[in-house]
Amino acid sequence: MTSLSRRTSIKIGLAAITTAATAGAAQAQTASTKTPFKVDQVFIPIAGSQEMFPVRRIYCIGRNYAAHAREMGSDPSREPPFFFQKPTDAIQYVAPGKVVDHPYPSLTKNYHYEVELVAALKSGGKNISIEKALDHVYGYALGLDMTRRDLQRALGDQKKPWEIGKSFDHSAPVGPLYQAAALKNFSRENISLSVNGVVKQQATLDQMIWSVAEQISKLSEANELFAGDIIYSGTPENVGPVVKGDVILCKLDQLPDLSIKIV
Ligand code: MN
Repeated sequence: MTSLSRRTSIKIGLAAITTAATAGAAQAQTASTKTPFKVDQVFIPIAGSQEMFPVRRIYCIGRNYAAHAREMGSDPSREPPFFFQKPTDAIQYVAPGKVVDHPYPSLTKNYHYEVELVAALKSGGKNISIEKALDHVYGYALGLDMTRRDLQRALGDQKKPWEIGKSFDHSAPVGPLYQAAALKNFSRENISLSVNGVVKQQATLDQMIWSVAEQISKLSEANELFAGDIIYSGTPENVGPVVKGDVILCKLDQLPDLSIKIV
């Protein structure tokens, strides 16, 4: 390599790093980026559209309904919200009108459902105001935050990260995204979940401790948010276990039902 070509390649490398930093990504992909293998982008289908929503990060808020906070053993007063993440490829798309097989995961003997409203962002930022927060929402979906409850609890008791209680393959079933413009503003919609025809969870969205706008605002204080980020907005009380063969049916006013069978 001549000294000129070496200088040129160093310069290109630095340019790429600089570009990535300003784009908010670890390393932004360009048309000329070469990789030794392909890693698939995760998408959620958009209802009534040929387009797919590309998922960047999955954020989840914990204990966002007072009665659920109490059943998890905490004080539901308005202490600051807390968030965790699931890996993007934990998404399991569940098409409307179908009962989709959902594998019972390894390592758990107490596998729980949590039905949740999911908000998906079309733009982001840092320190987003509550007033401007919903301007960043692309759409909404119905989702499940599936949980290895025994691992979550045991690891928490040991003061270890409860990561694998929440973050594992298929742990984020979700229905199609509906564009916010096509929906009425969510306010007092009913959200519910039944197992084998028996209603287990039932609430209205106004029972959330932190609204979607407040969640976006708070989360943007911790991390810069970007288009493609989605937020699971917490579950009502009466979470509980499922076993192989059980059929879960989730309902949320304005959105189609979501159903999975544990296999
Ligand atoms: Mn949850």
